Amino acid sequence: MASTPDQNRTPAAGAPAAAAAAPRKTRRHRGEGQWAKGHFTPLNGNEQTKKDDDGLNVRTRIETIYSKAGFDSIDGADLRGRMRWWGLYTQRRPGIHGGRTAILEPEELDDRYFMMRVRIDGGRLTVAQLRVIGEISQEFARGTADITDRQNIQYHWIRIEDVPEIWRRLEEVGLSTTEACGDTPRTILGSPVAGIAADEIIDGTPAIEEIKTRYIGSKEFSNLPRKFKTAVSGSPLLDVVHEINDIAFVGVEHPEHGPGFDVWVGGALSTNPRLGERLGAWVPLAEVPDVWAGVVGIFRDYGYRRLRSRARLKFLLADWGVAEFRRVLQEEYLKRELIDGPAPELPQAQWRDHIGVHRQNDGRFYVGFAPRVGRIDGTTLTKIAELAGQHGSDRLRTTTDQKMLVLDVEEAQIEALVSGLESLDLQVRPSPFRRGTMACTGIEFCKLAIVETKARGASLIDELERRLPDFDEPVTINVNGCPNSCARIQVADIGLKGQLVTDADGEQVEGFQVHLGGSLGLTPGFGRKVRGLKVTAAELPDYVERVLTRFRDERTDGERFAQ
Ligand code: SF4
Repeated sequence: MASTPDQNRTPAAGAPAAAAAAPRKTRRHRGEGQWAKGHFTPLNGNEQTKKDDDGLNVRTRIETIYSKAGFDSIDGADLRGRMRWWGLYTQRRPGIHGGRTAILEPEELDDRYFMMRVRIDGGRLTVAQLRVIGEISQEFARGTADITDRQNIQYHWIRIEDVPEIWRRLEEVGLSTTEACGDTPRTILGSPVAGIAADEIIDGTPAIEEIKTRYIGSKEFSNLPRKFKTAVSGSPLLDVVHEINDIAFVGVEHPEHGPGFDVWVGGALSTNPRLGERLGAWVPLAEVPDVWAGVVGIFRDYGYRRLRSRARLKFLLADWGVAEFRRVLQEEYLKRELIDGPAPELPQAQWRDHIGVHRQNDGRFYVGFAPRVGRIDGTTLTKIAELAGQHGSDRLRTTTDQKMLVLDVEEAQIEALVSGLESLDLQVRPSPFRRGTMACTGIEFCKLAIVETKARGASLIDELERRLPDFDEPVTINVNGCPNSCARIQVADIGLKGQLVTDADGEQVEGFQVHLGGSLGLTPGFGRKVRGLKVTAAELPDYVERVLTRFRDERTDGERFAQ
């Protein structure tokens, strides 16, 4: 793949010349803002901002101007646009009611502090890295540090003055915030047990590292139509929500060629959710980065840039279909045929989150533990790093369920580690409620939020543990602060979409639209949006208790919540 396309003059690198591009059977032939069709004139403000200056270039201004002159010196297009390319968003100004989210101007919602996302590809951390993350949290982020459901760590309360020093400390231990947000290739999800799982089909880590080295922070892919999400897992548990990524590589055993990856494209949630589809192609480990770059190239060149709401890869895939997508990938980007391959087998395990104590392929053990809804703090993170080190481990992983693992624990160290974690309220044997509940950032910090999520999710866990102490079925409860589905509303047993609802007194209060019966893995599908089923936040524990009790009392043998 050649260098970054000059969108002012020429078609995108790796793409056919616009004039030579064959007409495709899409529903819309014109006006979608596709570079490969010659549409280089920005059709909205976001595209104009990216054309005016590459998002990656804002780093120099942060280091040399904004961090020295302070918040008020930040250019508006940088503040609300390009800073995302370095993992920075302004956070929500405290005290603004959710009902005002949609009617206020951006500057009225902006706080003078930032959310900062630390990119943790594959969820892979060393003890030294976790210690630095914890120290930064304590020193610069008022102790905040949430584990996200894309394996990142997210800080709040970051001052622009401190950003260069935070970068210096992160980069000193091999971490970064590069392209953690923005219209870029985001953090690459990886199996939390890559390289250590006894049942692993293939370890995708080398491919993740290669993609990172070659392409993250490169201007070749720093101006995509929107965000681009990647997942790679060779675990038979299918533990990286591969169905809802723009591209996913899923471990399979090819009958002739051996272990490799089945390629999925076009998954995404938010509004118009869509599960990814198989290309029907098998890719060996060494070719994953090229195939990845080919698919990102298609997205960059053919992706829709006219409307932000149609700019994800799923819309292009919906118009093209899988066969056309694979043809373009092969003919125009890879210049070769892909090998046909088998589909992955569906996992039978009810939990796929790696919580608990499990034996590794080398005879040692890994220990998975659960904070509440991914909320943790800097002091606790440094204590986890200390505990892991004291018990002979140098490696940890974050998961796509807002949980963490300590790897490489000798059998004799397990119980001491487990009790050390539990003394920090990090449970290795959690209730199904703590294990299965996730929450997005919500109104505490997110400018798009309508309702509170983290504290509400944590108190829901406590309440359900108190009310249903004997409930032992796997259940997932995903609490979202708005329709954007950062915490995966549509694929939870109980998905909760934050909105204002009318209570019994006719007042507009925080509440949720309920989606029931969504799932990934064994029976992938979206939950049903139960017509008219909205609960106020105050009613939430009663409602969830009723749903769970009814399920427990009425289920047939072996029936799972998602069925
Ligand atoms: Fe913010 Fe909405 Fe995403 Fe929650 S789902 S983090 S409220 S954008």
